Amino acid sequence: MMTKKTIDRFRQICNVHHCRCTVQRLAVYRYICGNTAHPSVDEIWANVKKEIPTITRESVFRIMMEFSEWGLVYRMDKITNACFDGIAGNHGHLICRKCGAIIDFNLPKPLTIPSDAVGFCPDHIELRVSGICAACAEKTGHAADSSKKSPHGNTSTN
Ligand SMILES: [Zn+2]
Ligand SMILES: [Zn+2]
Repeated sequence: MMTKKTIDRFRQICNVHHCRCTVQRLAVYRYICGNTAHPSVDEIWANVKKEIPTITRESVFRIMMEFSEWGLVYRMDKITNACFDGIAGNHGHLICRKCGAIIDFNLPKPLTIPSDAVGFCPDHIELRVSGICAACAEKTGHAADSSKKSPHGNTSTN
């Protein structure tokens, strides 16, 4: 549920970016704010349409691009489709190679930047770990020691 306080805060955010707080923007914000499901544009569209049946996929995409420029969400590029993170702050992602599930995890604190990046000012840190999620591992009878058998090795960062 969206409180009046949240709506007021979103109005302020729109003001700062010289945009009108339209019902479309507000509906998209309401759906994505704090959303941990990492939805794609199509998923966001499907949900916002329940509230605003006339909204187009293009509008949803445009609004999401605005939101990522404003730092409200973080745009994650998947190979086939972009999806968006309702939590823009630094955190890590466990990405299942089988079902595509994206699961948040907290980064270790304090997080040290590699020494060869001295002089670089980071503004967003994301750690991606690919592998097989618990549900898929159970389905396929994959044991937790599968990392040793994986042809590519199942952890990577970027
Ligand atoms: Zn999975
Ligand atoms: Zn996330």
